[in-house]
Amino acid sequence: MPSCDVIIIGGGTNGLAAAGRLAKAGRKVLVLESAAVAGGGATTREFAKGYKVSAVAHLLNLLDPRVEQGLGLHLSFAATNISTTALSSTGDHLVLQGNYGETISGGLPEADRTSWLELRQKLMRFANVLKPFKAMTPPRLGKGVGNEMLKLAGLGLKIRGLGRDDLREFMRLMLINVADVLDDELKDERLKGVVAFDTVLGAHLGPRSPNSLLLLLNRLAGETLSLPAGGMGSVAVAMAKAVQALGVDIRVNAKVKSVNIVGDRATGVTLQNGDVIDATTVISAINPKTTFLDLVGPRYLDTGMVRRAGNILMRGNAVKLHLALKGAPNFKGADLRTRLVIAPSVRVVEDAFNPVKYGEFSHDPVMEIVIPSAFEEGFAPKGHHVLSAIVQYAPVVMDAKARAAFLKRIMATLESYAPGIGKLVVKSELLTPEVLERQYGFVGGNWHHGELAAEQMLFLRPFIGAAQYETAIPGLWLAGAGSHPGGGISGAAGWNAAERILKMEGRR
Ligand SMILES: Cc1cc2nc3c(=O)[nH]c(=O)nc-3n(C[C@H](O)[C@H](O)[C@H](O)COP(=O)(O)OP(=O)(O)OC[C@H]3O[C@@H](n4cnc5c(N)ncnc54)[C@H](O)[C@@H]3O)c2cc1C
Repeated sequence: MPSCDVIIIGGGTNGLAAAGRLAKAGRKVLVLESAAVAGGGATTREFAKGYKVSAVAHLLNLLDPRVEQGLGLHLSFAATNISTTALSSTGDHLVLQGNYGETISGGLPEADRTSWLELRQKLMRFANVLKPFKAMTPPRLGKGVGNEMLKLAGLGLKIRGLGRDDLREFMRLMLINVADVLDDELKDERLKGVVAFDTVLGAHLGPRSPNSLLLLLNRLAGETLSLPAGGMGSVAVAMAKAVQALGVDIRVNAKVKSVNIVGDRATGVTLQNGDVIDATTVISAINPKTTFLDLVGPRYLDTGMVRRAGNILMRGNAVKLHLALKGAPNFKGADLRTRLVIAPSVRVVEDAFNPVKYGEFSHDPVMEIVIPSAFEEGFAPKGHHVLSAIVQYAPVVMDAKARAAFLKRIMATLESYAPGIGKLVVKSELLTPEVLERQYGFVGGNWHHGELAAEQMLFLRPFIGAAQYETAIPGLWLAGAGSHPGGGISGAAGWNAAERILKMEGRR
């Protein structure tokens, strides 16, 4: 007799969201987390004595309202609705305020201001059409799936509701690259640069790659940018406390080595320490490739599934840079209590992307910088600061020489925007894609546990046959960011998976 109804592999925000939803429905849930704390990409960690940082994700904008309300999370924030400063090396910065540039300050020509507001409004309208997609199980395609096709038709109607002109424009934008849209609509290089950067953040794409605009819409379908008090780890702590209060057991330092299969059914898991734990339902909220190829193993999968799991695209080219600083950096007068972006033009972002196609790092990297110590005390000793940056692009494989050379390039770029910053550095840490894979389980360093690209979205995520969270192995489900709707500190995939499981159980 299993000791619990459900085992969840991985205590990231998706695992915790699934745990909470199932516990609310009366299931006895055990979460197994390999690290010493739950949270996955949402973790606050000391990286140098006295200096703390949000270790992977550093800004919140996608937290699913169902998770926040359903778990009764009462998060406190060091800042909400954070503005973005598009840094200029001359000090002529542009600041996007409110919800993604509702207003802009910093010498934007009037014609561009009008064009931007029109473009922004259009993008927001289309992002809102996509928003409900995130909270649903993707429909199944094929014969004999009438209800599923109705769901797809319902989505089609929402899009049709846009009206003829908007619909045509929506379809055009779905296929186009962001650089073309920006070149058509705007002139200001700083504005175009920051929008291009935001589109490709966390993706193996440049602004001229096809379908890139789709990713910007995905981002805009989230909430405004915020900084949880205490860093991103406090989101995971709040979620962990909430699910524990619902009766969920979270076991840390508990790495799952394999999913146990008896006959053709998942019956539980074996931990790395040899413990065997049985359950009626096993949910994997970790990377789907790892789930199928390592925890289940090819002997339990048909060859088609082995191939599809092996073919999930997982190229990740973002690195995380942490700097402990003995003083405040000066980005030529920019407000440190904003998100600082170095992406001075579309061309610079595209040129940064090109080398990574050939396994090389960007010579002039682009980056998003947050200085949490400027928003809140407790991240660094008094008068000192921490800088957290997501820098693109780096190849997955980098030897020590390449890592050192890339860090040098990043520091040179920073130096041209914040002269003297190099002299303030007490300690630096660079989490390359390889480190992100080794330490946090992001295979290929990929932000979404599987690229969020047109060919890996909705009913194609992570692949056909596993896109409704259910796998071909009875009793084994998926619930991580590798499933629809993808990554970010959101919990949406976990919540969707739990809803699907409850629905399918209700039918049996
Ligand atoms: C460099 C970088 C920067 C990012 N910045 C942001 C950002 O600013 N904002 C944002 O919203 N998103 C950001 N993301 C994306 C975000 O971190 C992820 O999409 C998100 O963490 C996915 O959540 P998850 O719960 O699906 O998986 P994870 O957060 O990866 O959680 C999976 C959990 O499973 C555990 N685990 C793995 N294997 C096992 C095993 N065998 N047994 C038991 N446990 C296991 C892991 O330790 C981990 O805790 C960033 C990602 C990267 C790589």
